[in-house]
Amino acid sequence: PFNTDFGQHILKNPGIVNAIVEKSAIKSSDTVLEVGPGTGNLTVKMLEQAKKLIAFELDPRMVSELKKRVLGTPVQTRLEVRQGDVMKQEWPEFDVCVANLPYQISSPFVFKLLLQRPLPRYAVLMFQKEFAERLLAKPGSKEYCRLSVNVQLLAKVEHLMKVKRTEFRPPPQVDSAVVRIAPRNPPPPLNFDEWEGMLRLCFMRKNKTILSIVRLSNVNDLLEENYRRVCRMKNKDIPEDLNFTELIEKALTESGFAEKRARSMKIDEFLQLLIIFNRIGVHFH
Ligand code: SAM
Repeated sequence: PFNTDFGQHILKNPGIVNAIVEKSAIKSSDTVLEVGPGTGNLTVKMLEQAKKLIAFELDPRMVSELKKRVLGTPVQTRLEVRQGDVMKQEWPEFDVCVANLPYQISSPFVFKLLLQRPLPRYAVLMFQKEFAERLLAKPGSKEYCRLSVNVQLLAKVEHLMKVKRTEFRPPPQVDSAVVRIAPRNPPPPLNFDEWEGMLRLCFMRKNKTILSIVRLSNVNDLLEENYRRVCRMKNKDIPEDLNFTELIEKALTESGFAEKRARSMKIDEFLQLLIIFNRIGVHFH
C-alpha cells in the first residue's frame, strides 16, 4: 500500500515515534508544521501537545487516511492537512517543524526552512544518515562540505538520534538520523550571493589551497572580470598597469589565507576571507 516513489517509509516502532516527539519539546502555545505525516504516527502524538498542527502531505490517499484517523477525536480541530508538494507551497507561520522527510527533498527543504520568515524556533528532521553527517560535519572531517558551512552559518545543528533502516516499513536502502536545526536569529548580516559564489570557488577543489584555486586561469579571469565591472560601476579608476594576479596573491599571502584549504577552514575564516577579497575589490557575483 506504500508508494516508495513518494519516499513512503513509515516508522513502525512507537518507541522511536515517542522519542522524536519528546525531543521536539513542543509547547502548548506552539504551531507545528509537519511535512509528510503519512498515516499520522507522529501527528497524533504531537496533536496532544501543540496548539495547532499544519501538515503538508503529497499523497491524497494519506491525506484522507489521516483525516479519518482524527475524525471525531478531541484533537480534530487542531489539525489542518494541506494536500500538495511542500516545496511548491507557501508555508504558514509556525514555531517548530517536525518531519520524517522524503529523502529526495532534504537539501532544498533545509534551505527553504532557513529562508523562511519569521524564523521558526527549530526543526527536528529525519534524514538519510550520510546527509545528516554532512550537516553536522566539522572542519577537517571527510564529510565537511559547502552544505555543512552554509547550514552551520545560518543555524545551530545538533544530532539527536540514529534510526536503523529496519525501523521503517518498508525499510529504505539506508540508515537514518534525526537532527535538530535551530536557525540563528537574527541571521548573520551578509550578502548571500557573494558568500555562495565564494564558497563555490573554495570548495571547487576542497583539498587544494585557496592560492592554487585563484591561480586557475578560468577563476582568475572570472574574478578579474568581476573586479573591472565593479570598478566601472563605482566609477573607480583601474590602473593602466594593473596586475590582477599579483593583487590577489598579495592579499592572500599577507592575510595568511594563501595556503589554507576549504576542507579545514572554519566558518569564521570563510567570513574573514570574504572581507579580505571585498576589501581589494574582488567580488563573486
Ligand atoms: N510521517 C510518517 C512516519 O514517520 O511514519 C511518514 C514519513 S514518510 C518517510 C514521508 C511522507 O512524505 C510520505 O507520507 C509521503 O507521501 C510524503 N511526501 C513525499 N514527498 C512529499 C512532498 N514533496 N511534499 C509533502 N509530502 C511529501
